[in-house]
Amino acid sequence: MKSSDTPTTNVSAHRRIIVIGGVAAGMSAASQAKRREPGADVIVFERGPYISYGACGMPYNVMDPQRRIDDLVVLTPERAINDRGIDLRVRHEAIGLDLPSQRVTVKNLETGAVTDEPFDALVLATGASAIHLPLPGMDLPGIVVLRELTDGGRLKKLLASKPKRAIVLGGGFIAMEMCHALTERGLEVQVLEKLPHILSGWSEETVKLVLEELGRHGVEVHTGVEVTGAEAGPDGRVAAVVTRQGSYPADLVLQAVGIRPNAMLAADAGLRIGETGAIWVNQFQQTSHPAVWAGGDCAEAYHRLLRKNAWIPLGTTANKQGRIAGANAVGLHQRFAGIVGTSGFRVFDLELARSGLSANQAEAEGFEPATVTVRQSSRAHSYPGSSPIQVTLVADIPSGILLGGEIAGREGAALRINVLAAALASHMTVSDLQGLDLVYAPPFAPVWDPILVAANQLIKKVRTQEIRP
Ligand SMILES: Cc1cc2nc3c(=O)[nH]c(=O)nc-3n(C[C@H](O)[C@H](O)[C@H](O)COP(=O)(O)OP(=O)(O)OC[C@H]3O[C@@H](n4cnc5c(N)ncnc54)[C@H](O)[C@@H]3O)c2cc1C
Repeated sequence: MKSSDTPTTNVSAHRRIIVIGGVAAGMSAASQAKRREPGADVIVFERGPYISYGACGMPYNVMDPQRRIDDLVVLTPERAINDRGIDLRVRHEAIGLDLPSQRVTVKNLETGAVTDEPFDALVLATGASAIHLPLPGMDLPGIVVLRELTDGGRLKKLLASKPKRAIVLGGGFIAMEMCHALTERGLEVQVLEKLPHILSGWSEETVKLVLEELGRHGVEVHTGVEVTGAEAGPDGRVAAVVTRQGSYPADLVLQAVGIRPNAMLAADAGLRIGETGAIWVNQFQQTSHPAVWAGGDCAEAYHRLLRKNAWIPLGTTANKQGRIAGANAVGLHQRFAGIVGTSGFRVFDLELARSGLSANQAEAEGFEPATVTVRQSSRAHSYPGSSPIQVTLVADIPSGILLGGEIAGREGAALRINVLAAALASHMTVSDLQGLDLVYAPPFAPVWDPILVAANQLIKKVRTQEIRP
């Protein structure tokens, strides 16, 4: 029997593998392709100056004025070339893709030279870009986004000039992390969110905890506010964000209003784009062209609960998909198991994590959801220093299948989500969850872990209560 680690095609001595994009997905793909087929020419084109960095660490790096932003670089171009044998070309942008002739048109951003690069296999790892609000004044000095490492560097430079008032536009998880970071750096922070609430997709109960935590640290949140532009002060720098509801003074503005997949190159070449707007891929990370693979934020991912593709762009997925795309580009046949939508973040002292579907998402997908929220101690009653953990669970009433959950608290909250992630990936019912043999020891958990207490409540709301053998 053929193993998934055995190349499925005959390998020529110098197969030419091109990877576009050199961060999480791209460098995972390139490294894997080179490791699996050392004789291949693996060429990475990255339009930026950096490769392989941990964007997820940027809010924490920004928080600390002593740290350099390039502390977040995991691998330099020199090491990729010398240690891994990858032909790494930074400041090179892929500007065209011709599928019938299997060629990428690449522009050297330093010299302006344009070349046509043939490939035997191509991996698209072009990621996603921050959305810039197309409004008057939004390009003023002092207004930034936070997506690439260069954005982080720009923000740290701005912070060195000691701005006093920051406005964060948007209420997603990166906006929350940045409220924390900017407050730590001594700024007064206000959040402006267009929707009626922050953290779209999270339950009301969790959002309430986040609002309390932000309030405790002096962050003001204004929801239902529609930004119409920004105004400059006498020095030409941003002085205020203008909204339909009034004007908000600011010395620094962070646009954290979302990202969109960099799928244009693929779309223009005729590759299939999914309903989400990201590049369609099958579970082998192959696109609609047999010689082209894709992974990371530019691509969709198979969702194990929805049993269809979704777009939930995260670093964990980018690393896994990139690795599989790189292996398969040199002839292996590895399958991506899929996602269940697990993510987490911290805002001040509150840890938050979620996995699966919220009740609203579940309903929109045709399920009949039941929900419970419980608050329990993080440690045994007898052990000092415990704090409350809030668990929200969602299940399908007719089948009893667990659909999702959120966990929030001061300690041990975020990592508990991994129990739910595993349960969701295994399509467990609430009864299965209720029967799990979870750890009990006074310093870490009470005898009934908060997850089990939530399951005990939820079981009363679903119709199917059998425990699978
Ligand atoms: C502030 C912040 C915090 C985050 N926190 C978390 C977290 O806690 N957990 C988590 O899982 N994820 C987190 N993420 C998301 C995570 O960083 C991304 O999912 C991950 O970086 C995606 O990797 P990628 O390689 O797919 O894309 P990207 O990181 O976007 O890299 C794509 C690269 O492709 C290059 N490129 C694009 N088009 C071209 C072209 N035509 N030619 C050449 N090069 C091109 C771009 O310059 C870019 O460098 C966070 C992101 C940010 C910004």
